[in-house]
Amino acid sequence: MAALRTGFKVASLGAVGAGVAYTGYQYYTTTQFFFVRAHAELPSDSKAALKKMEWKGFTELKLQSSEQVNHNVKKLTFALPDDDSITGITPITSLLTQHTPDGGFIPVFRPYTPVSDNDIAGTVTFMIKKYPGGKGSGKMHSLVPGDTMKFKPLQEFEYKPNQFKSMLFVAGGSGITPIYQLTRAILKNPEDKTKISLVYANNTEEDILLRQEFEELERQYPDRFQKLFTVSKLNQANDGSIAQGYVTKQMINKIWAGKEAGQKVLVSGPPAMVEAIAGAKGGFGWTQGSVGGILKELGYTKEDVHKF
Ligand SMILES: Cc1cc2nc3c(=O)[nH]c(=O)nc-3n(C[C@H](O)[C@H](O)[C@H](O)COP(=O)(O)OP(=O)(O)OC[C@H]3O[C@@H](n4cnc5c(N)ncnc54)[C@H](O)[C@@H]3O)c2cc1C
Repeated sequence: MAALRTGFKVASLGAVGAGVAYTGYQYYTTTQFFFVRAHAELPSDSKAALKKMEWKGFTELKLQSSEQVNHNVKKLTFALPDDDSITGITPITSLLTQHTPDGGFIPVFRPYTPVSDNDIAGTVTFMIKKYPGGKGSGKMHSLVPGDTMKFKPLQEFEYKPNQFKSMLFVAGGSGITPIYQLTRAILKNPEDKTKISLVYANNTEEDILLRQEFEELERQYPDRFQKLFTVSKLNQANDGSIAQGYVTKQMINKIWAGKEAGQKVLVSGPPAMVEAIAGAKGGFGWTQGSVGGILKELGYTKEDVHKF
């Protein structure tokens, strides 16, 4: 996490009386986020007429549209300040939201990862899963077109084209959004030769986010992208294209050649899944921790793996 790298880490689990930000499974203090760096570059010269967002502090964006995607996920599209603006964020960057609940005074911070490309003019789009009683996701789901939310970029993982020969992504639930952002950025760059294998786990087929988008990417880039979806509960009428059960070594081996030099593995999902795949994060989730689980059995070490 950028916040960790900037060195403003403050152990604030369960902090009271200070702003607390929950970044997936981590909590950060309000002040910590004032130091989070904005990351941005113009993605291509051909888009030179477009204006990269300046992202000075938190920027208020207006909700343009809201669409229910499945029983607990909404697709929210926010308007950028004008039609020529682009987010300009580099993969993998989330946008940290900030709001103060009605009747409260402690601000709530939560990161959400754009699933729209960073050079799309005029809008930025998210997929948001709602958790029962969730402060951040509840607020996002309550927004109607015309409402506003404050955002600020927060880089989660720094990626440079061709930095790795191949990448293995293991994701669960809404943990797919950072992975999707990077997958798109890699595959749509013709100069980037990185090969990607994705294992994506969910409870049911309806929970699979961005399913058509990933299927399309696999069709478009058969030599560079392979995916395997697995769900705990299969629909009765399934065509065999989706595996059943939690992620296993066998599933990974099906789409991944095995350990060799120049690889990187990203694991993004609920803590129980991250632990089973890559070992638990350390220091109450503040550090990467040592590599355990399936990846350790496959011979991977700390340098090879990044846990979200
Ligand atoms: C880098 C990063 C990017 C993210 N991008 C996205 C994104 O694009 N879309 C998205 O929907 N979410 C994303 N998240 C998760 C998001 O930031 C929030 O953590 C999530 O919305 C829950 O916050 P909340 O305030 O609604 O729930 P909270 O008020 O924090 O918690 C409410 C209840 O839900 C439970 N809960 C919270 N999170 C989880 C979880 N992951 N698994 C199981 N139970 C949980 C809590 O234990 C609690 O009981 C991202 C997280 C990180 C770290």
